[in-house]
Amino acid sequence: MSDSPAPRRPLAPATRVVSLGREDDAPGAQVGAPLVLTSTYRANGGTVYARTGNPTWSAFETALGSLEGGDALVFSSGMAAVAAALSLVPHGGTVVAPDAAYNGVVSTLGHREEAGELTVRRVDVTATDEVVAALDGADLLWLESPTNPLLEVADLPTLLAAARERGVTSVVDNTFATPLVQRPLELGADVVVHSVTKYLSGHSDVVLGAAVTAPTDAGRALHERVLLHRTLHGAIAGPLEVWLALRGLRTLHLRVERAGANALVLADRLRGHPAVERVRHPGWGAVVSIEVAGGPEAAERVADATRVWVHSTSLGGVESQLERRRRIATEPRAVPENLLRLSVGVEDVEDLWDDLDAALDSVLGERPSS
Ligand SMILES: *Cc1c(COP(=O)(O)O)cnc(C)c1O
Repeated sequence: MSDSPAPRRPLAPATRVVSLGREDDAPGAQVGAPLVLTSTYRANGGTVYARTGNPTWSAFETALGSLEGGDALVFSSGMAAVAAALSLVPHGGTVVAPDAAYNGVVSTLGHREEAGELTVRRVDVTATDEVVAALDGADLLWLESPTNPLLEVADLPTLLAAARERGVTSVVDNTFATPLVQRPLELGADVVVHSVTKYLSGHSDVVLGAAVTAPTDAGRALHERVLLHRTLHGAIAGPLEVWLALRGLRTLHLRVERAGANALVLADRLRGHPAVERVRHPGWGAVVSIEVAGGPEAAERVADATRVWVHSTSLGGVESQLERRRRIATEPRAVPENLLRLSVGVEDVEDLWDDLDAALDSVLGERPSS
């Protein structure tokens, strides 16, 4: 209210995430976000038809936009947001992209390259000089950091500044980090994309995506193009899914904190396990990838042997999940065959360890004794 005292300092993300997107603080206003199920609106108002706008979308977009520091657009899936961001590449244009990243992005770039629509310069995102050198004459820089599932971390400030200097549009997939840990727009990115399916919604119950554009003149121009793509290609989100995502977003800080703390403990213990050849974890975040001694069959057996951990694809939910990524045919070859991606959830860490430790021990026991 206007006569309440102004906050002494900007509110922390953990405070803002709880209430962002709420309509106003007028007496009698609803505290929960509206779930609006309508395909059309009475004439002479703002929005005409629900493929172009919905109040539930707006609440979620306000919240995510504020967390990322830009203007958000919600999509029917992460891949729909990826497709909208890739529509910024002119026909015949050049994209600089990681050689190993989320397989849907790697696949779509490959298909579009085969169709003659664009050229891809594939780079190792950890080799900063190599990425910068690849930017000359490029149209778009695509980054993911940490990468899925190798958990490689890119030097975002350097790469995004280099892209900006060369007039190359930059997109960062911020699905793994979340805006609580990393805000690429503040580091110079033009567009951030998310699989909202993962941490932002956080409960493995919706498939959704988002694109967030920078609050600059260039960013606003990109926003118009991404919005037009959403409206004309029609990859729009169902309001119920978006409402669930906003409800999930309210606890993002708690989930990210707890899952990240669990992941640190598990990564440390996994490094000492005889059935684990290598542990990948950047020291933050809740995804840990391990390489299992005994090859892909042993890795599959570990995934099948857990009881608390769910053997399934996807990540970022409250439940711990694990999967051998190469079981998926389109996974980049750079991903080792025996790699298990662990998405650490918010359960009791000792239960998670006991379950994983026992599953790993079981493959050691199955090894031929001679
Ligand atoms: C899952 C994922 C996507 C694709 O999102 P969907 O919601 O499955 O369409 C994109 N990027 C990353 C890093 C992902 O993990």
